[in-house]
Amino acid sequence: MNKVTKVVIAGGGTAGWMAAAALTKLISNLEVTLIESEEIGTVGVGEATIPTLVFYHRLLKINEAEFMKAVNATFKLGISFENWRDVNEDYIHAFGVTGRDCWAAGFQHFWKKGREKGFASDFGDYCIEQVAAKRNRFAQLPKNGINYAYHMDASLYAKFLRGIAEQHGIKRIEGKIGKVNVCSENGFIQSLEMENGQVIEGDLFLDCTGQRGLLIEQTLHAGFEDWSHWLPCDSAIAIQTTAVEKPRAYTRSIAHPFGWQWRIPLQNRVGNGIVYSSKYVSDEEAKQTLLNNIEGEALTEPRVIKFRTGTRRKHWHKNCVAVGLSSGFLEPLESTSIHLIQQAIVRLLRIFPYDGVKQCDIDEFNQQTKVDVEAIRDFIIMHYKVTNRDDADFWHYCRNMQVPETLAHRLELFEQTGKVFRKNNELFDDSWQQVMIGQGLIPQHYHPIVDNMPDEELKRFLKSIKDGIDNTVNQLPEHWQFIQQFCPSP
Ligand code: FAD
Repeated sequence: MNKVTKVVIAGGGTAGWMAAAALTKLISNLEVTLIESEEIGTVGVGEATIPTLVFYHRLLKINEAEFMKAVNATFKLGISFENWRDVNEDYIHAFGVTGRDCWAAGFQHFWKKGREKGFASDFGDYCIEQVAAKRNRFAQLPKNGINYAYHMDASLYAKFLRGIAEQHGIKRIEGKIGKVNVCSENGFIQSLEMENGQVIEGDLFLDCTGQRGLLIEQTLHAGFEDWSHWLPCDSAIAIQTTAVEKPRAYTRSIAHPFGWQWRIPLQNRVGNGIVYSSKYVSDEEAKQTLLNNIEGEALTEPRVIKFRTGTRRKHWHKNCVAVGLSSGFLEPLESTSIHLIQQAIVRLLRIFPYDGVKQCDIDEFNQQTKVDVEAIRDFIIMHYKVTNRDDADFWHYCRNMQVPETLAHRLELFEQTGKVFRKNNELFDDSWQQVMIGQGLIPQHYHPIVDNMPDEELKRFLKSIKDGIDNTVNQLPEHWQFIQQFCPSP
């Protein structure tokens, strides 16, 4: 087994440069080469993130204000789901915890009883991130008192990370990979051959070539598990516009009869797009719907992106690890793709095969990835399945479709008992309650242990949480004002 001293990253989108920055900065004695093609370009979307990115940046010792300035970032406290539960109804899925941790039963049980008694307000009123998002206020509070992520410009982010990787010795090659050379004995990738004939050899290859999956699929045929029967959207159209208001501290996800639309506010513009199922609407009609629902002047031409929802059967195969879109795709409803890139990189750092590629490392990597991705898949499917919408064929299909057994069980458990359990250290925790309730699934019962608390005490308990949040949020600055102080424009 060859020691791994040379890593080759094929592709320079968000995935390629996130991997390059981490590997060059965090592993010493490694020769890292990245190949990218300006002519092919990147997917050019992927501008909303989740709080795990904050921790990734801390790992890389990235200065937050410098990062925000470089990528025109705003803060994000959650996602506003509009028209999802039903037409003209909305809720916010925020990043924080709702209520207070109660050892015996989750907060939702106390809220449920309070609601029955008529003294609980909306579930979201007990979550500081949600209240701050609604009032468009923001500040960083001590001890991660407010969980947040960012909205950012994807192409500027790749440039920013490239700067870090270059400071740490990355070798960058511009041009198209024409051929992937594989060892006839063990099936490992030996080298990548550029169209100009240059050959780049390596011990470990990261496939960051986007949806093409040039190494992992076109060469190594790792296989693809299709999930489009659960997530029928297969197309998107993206367009950038000028801003007509100060940036909100949340992403907007607005449902339509055949999919949904995003609005991502940056410091200097707004990213917009529509995600839809081509089975239920034409590209042209989807484009018109998007254009009818944007605010501000268009800065770019509308661009159609086709995708297939699902996952690679093996994310690491032979000496090739798929990172980013080459590893599969879950639609951007909960902004989880960049998180999955970061997870793959951190997992690779932990399992890094210094002494040579071993099958046990590969199996561990693939098993952990499968657990992570399937939990996120279930969470995203839930938004479509749990809805009162039945006003269009698309929604009729979604609300009546069979869902994975893991999700069916979760929904049944919550509906009948109000119980929710986090499994296998999965990404989403409190979010399950927030979105199930937000989508209109209210449990039939609460945990009987709540009855140990007299009604007056329950009333005081709920009120103290809500009042505490209100007081804190009232003291926070306005989101835009905070950004201008935190990372002032020159
Ligand atoms: P790409 O950006 O496609 O990069 C591929 C790279 O490979 C490019 O540099 C290209 O030049 C190079 N390449 C390919 N073939 C060759 C070759 N033969 N030779 C040389 N170089 C080659 N994620 C989020 O987290 N949040 C979001 O809000 C979000 N929104 C999205 C919206 C849509 C509509 C879509 C489709 C995706 C969204 N994503 C989002 C996902 C996110 O965009 C991607 O995860 C992220 O951009 C990473 O892409 P990538 O680097 O894997 O691929």
